[in-house]
Amino acid sequence: MQIIDGKRTAALIKEEIAAEVDRIVAAGGKRPHLSAILVGHDGGSETYVHNKVLVCEACGFKSTLYRFEETVSEEELLAQVERLNQDEDVDGFIVQLPLPQHISEQKVIEAIDFRKDVDGFHPVNVGRMAIGLPCYISATPKGILELLQRYHVGTSGKKCVILGRSNIVGKPMAQLMMQKQYGDATVTVCHSHSRDLKKECREADIIIAAIGRPEFVTADMVKEGATVIDVGTTRVPDATKKNGFRLSGDVKFDEVAPKCAFITPVPGGVGPMTICMLMKNTLSAGKKEFYE
Ligand code: NAP
Repeated sequence: MQIIDGKRTAALIKEEIAAEVDRIVAAGGKRPHLSAILVGHDGGSETYVHNKVLVCEACGFKSTLYRFEETVSEEELLAQVERLNQDEDVDGFIVQLPLPQHISEQKVIEAIDFRKDVDGFHPVNVGRMAIGLPCYISATPKGILELLQRYHVGTSGKKCVILGRSNIVGKPMAQLMMQKQYGDATVTVCHSHSRDLKKECREADIIIAAIGRPEFVTADMVKEGATVIDVGTTRVPDATKKNGFRLSGDVKFDEVAPKCAFITPVPGGVGPMTICMLMKNTLSAGKKEFYE
């Protein structure tokens, strides 16, 4: 059994990105610039955005953060999106989700210029990904592909079961794993209405769990020699931790790991790769790799 070390892989990729930025700047090119919009004071969102800013610095990017109170109107937020769309210095930007209830997330996502949509959530990028055209691929599925490639996990022709069908993980993951140029696998997507999900999992060569149910995947659901990718990150109370919680994955790691060829831990697996892939998308934006 081999543990897929997302933390180490992410650190390596960040060094690769920083080296490329150095080369670009040394050759007189522009330093990539990522902006982020953060609304409100949700602890999780604050932490994610803070980490994104730190990783930008580590990669040698310029970063700017625009903060709004929870009470900001949809109109004001859309106006900020438009300013960033027009700002020639900004290569890519993100709007940290979730947004307050009175603001339509879909409207905001669709207002972002798809050429700067480094989160890969805009319908143009989602559609281009679905038909295999160059585009920004959302960070979590992109990070999982990168881990599978870097650890030489064979996917072509394999049976891959994806647990969860969200727009940000399950659906794009299924698209990518099925496509010839990426996973080239035979893909099954399971969700809360799937019948006999255990049987599907037991037949899988690769399981990608993204449901947000701590320790849902148990040893009896995994076949010997399978690869298990755990996307789940649920905060569960833990009095022994300073902040009062720990992160739990969707997989019961201790009993599943011994059966696996490869497995990702939580934390330290998929999580660190996600921010790293946002940086890769920003580098692509700076290089105008997909769009002029
Ligand atoms: P989400 O929007 O909450 O959707 C959860 C999906 O899981 C839904 O499709 C749901 O089915 C399915 N599901 C829920 N309970 C189930 C059950 N008992 N059996 C089968 N399917 C079930 O999920 P998400 O945003 O993709 O997030 C999933 C997990 O990944 C969360 O823990 C999240 O924190 C984590 N995550 C981690 C990263 C990272 O960087 N590591 C990034 C994104 C998300 P229905 O469609 O039928 O409701």
